[in-house]
Amino acid sequence: MKAAILHQAGAPLVIEEIDKPQPGSGEILIQVKACGVCHTELHSVAGEWRLPKLPLVLGHEAVGVATAVGVDVKNFKAGDRADTLVLVGLPPGNFTLPIRGSVAKGIRVLTSAVGTRQDLREVLALAASGKIKTVGASLPLQEINGAFNRMRAGTISGRLVVEFH
Ligand SMILES: [Zn+2]
Repeated sequence: MKAAILHQAGAPLVIEEIDKPQPGSGEILIQVKACGVCHTELHSVAGEWRLPKLPLVLGHEAVGVATAVGVDVKNFKAGDRADTLVLVGLPPGNFTLPIRGSVAKGIRVLTSAVGTRQDLREVLALAASGKIKTVGASLPLQEINGAFNRMRAGTISGRLVVEFH
């Protein structure tokens, strides 16, 4: 399978063929269909954040389909969709997530402290009324380094998503 590999901070990513991993105990293997590109990857490539061991396959905003499950995975099977739940406008205090409905299904949860629930309601109402739309573009994996150059130059309008076919 193809992957964009970070071998050294400050160097461009290198597109390489790597072995398809096998899911370990409690893990699922996901065939990624699309993955958002954000400043997390840009900071990682630039060496501005502490990185785990290199080489490293970047990307944390993926959506795809499970193709295999490891031992001890009971509530997820090949063919299930895997994605990330993004929570914004969080209330103060604690937040309850059902274990069986989230962790056991392999759903990753990201949170944001930016904005309020009222902000989120207003944005969703605007989207539902057709007054706003998502602005974004997709690109093939081979163009990932160019995407970072565009991010540095501030020439991106909306979101960039790498699509895998
Ligand atoms: Zn991100």
